[in-house]
Amino acid sequence: MPEAHDDYLAWMRDAHAMEQQALTMMNGLEARLEDYPELRDRIRTHIGETEQQARALAGLLERHDTESSMFKDAMAKLSGLGQGLASGLSDDSVVKGALGSYMFEHMEIASYRILIAAAKQFEDHEAVAVFQRSLAEEQAMADWLAAHLDSTTREYLRREMAAASG
Ligand code: MG
Ligand code: FE
Repeated sequence: MPEAHDDYLAWMRDAHAMEQQALTMMNGLEARLEDYPELRDRIRTHIGETEQQARALAGLLERHDTESSMFKDAMAKLSGLGQGLASGLSDDSVVKGALGSYMFEHMEIASYRILIAAAKQFEDHEAVAVFQRSLAEEQAMADWLAAHLDSTTREYLRREMAAASG
């Protein structure tokens, strides 16, 4: 296999680690959103999508019989990164969570665009279809978050002001 194809496999491993990180982050956030049921429900839906995305990437990687130790290393390296966002949050965690989630979805969007380009280059048609589906899910989540940044922030501030005066 040419070296360029190793890049493609490495990018898939990175994407798998990214999805693991997304799960850590969203599970941490979801547990703190009892007062924000709409956001919580949307995140729950996306947790389900994300689990499927991670499984799909693992399936694509298995086709190449890629060294599982490298795969695990990459996952271990990245799995801690999402925890800072999910834990150690101050009481404005819903706003920080919305900010972090919006950022993260856009990183995922870029990652799947890159993977689609690489999969096309290597004529990996199965992977193109998988990545396009995941890209659509990330885009929908990013759009939803963008549309709710205003209401989430205002709801948080209303609650803060009510708590301060009550
Ligand atoms: Mg994802
Ligand atoms: Fe996502």
